[in-house]
Amino acid sequence: MFKALVVEKDEDGKTRAGVQELDESRLLQGEVTVAVEYSTLNYKDGLCIGPGGGLVRNYPHVPGIDFAGVVEDSADPRYAPGDRVVLTGWRVGESHWGGYAQKARVAADWLVPLPEGLTTRAAMAVGTAGFTAMLAVMALEDHGLKPGDGPVLVTGAAGGVGSVATAILAKLGHEVVAVTGRPETESYLRDLGAARILPREELTEVTKKPLESETWAGCVDSVAGAMLGRILKQMKYRTSVAAVGLAGGAVIEGALITPFILRGVNLLGIDSVLRPQQDRLRAWNRIATDLPMDKLEAMIRPAVLADLPALGADILKGRVQGRVVVDVN
Ligand code: NDP
Repeated sequence: MFKALVVEKDEDGKTRAGVQELDESRLLQGEVTVAVEYSTLNYKDGLCIGPGGGLVRNYPHVPGIDFAGVVEDSADPRYAPGDRVVLTGWRVGESHWGGYAQKARVAADWLVPLPEGLTTRAAMAVGTAGFTAMLAVMALEDHGLKPGDGPVLVTGAAGGVGSVATAILAKLGHEVVAVTGRPETESYLRDLGAARILPREELTEVTKKPLESETWAGCVDSVAGAMLGRILKQMKYRTSVAAVGLAGGAVIEGALITPFILRGVNLLGIDSVLRPQQDRLRAWNRIATDLPMDKLEAMIRPAVLADLPALGADILKGRVQGRVVVDVN
């Protein structure tokens, strides 16, 4: 038997989440069984714990899009009992049972061996949010960003992706400008390494100007909406924005083609879910070296399985700061 957060759907279509004891025979198919140690909380988890957001296909469902733990049993030669592994993406926690459980059974192809120097707890403090932040920073670097190029903007800075992006960019020597709608997070963001805080309102007005002063050398954007429309017009010549999320809307409001054709600005799409294994290994190895562990520790909010229904509702309302780490045991 093992403990899991199970979401059930009533006949009238309402979902209900609670901790239950399940028999191991109920685990879904996969080559590797993992004794999960930690999971975490992302926006998608909020949807899957609650109404489903169109992501969950079958009920009862065990959410949790990320987990880290130790291999218990493997039918795949790449993994052996005792190996420490991390999983993010591949629609685990959405179409497959996820990490809000003491056990998970998954395809071997979905796992990544945990790099030396990273604990399972630290890996979940990183989670999909931090992994995506690292992919965004790598994309900016691959398109030429170097320390000294100028200020780098991070939007949704007090959220999961934004917090980790701020800490990594600052550690790499960039001047990070953190955009937040929560002024009370200023000291948290400065501790992560932000050199300056920019109130959200300064970037949310939609303007008709085709271009604004060249200000930013790079940007990790979790927000989109009107903010991304403004930021594109403020990018320096031949710089890039890594587009990660849509916390502020799925449309890029007020965007024009001018930044792309007059300033050679790049808009780089970042996907973490179906990312090939080679990129995953590169990103997790960079996380182990380039994310300051003391800063990561400062982002952690500890939780247990029973806390998740309330936390899921909170993240959907933008009320979660930093990274929730769920001890599933
Ligand atoms: P969080 O909820 O932790 O953070 C989002 C942050 O965005 C909030 O903390 C807030 O930051 C800001 N924000 C929220 N609402 C608004 C708004 N209306 N206008 C402007 N800013 C707003 O989420 P995550 O960091 O986990 O994820 C961020 C985004 O990235 C989400 O859209 C998520 O779906 C997406 N994502 C995409 C991935 C990919 O593979 N591409 C992977 C992971 C996440 P503040 O309070 O500082 O203003």
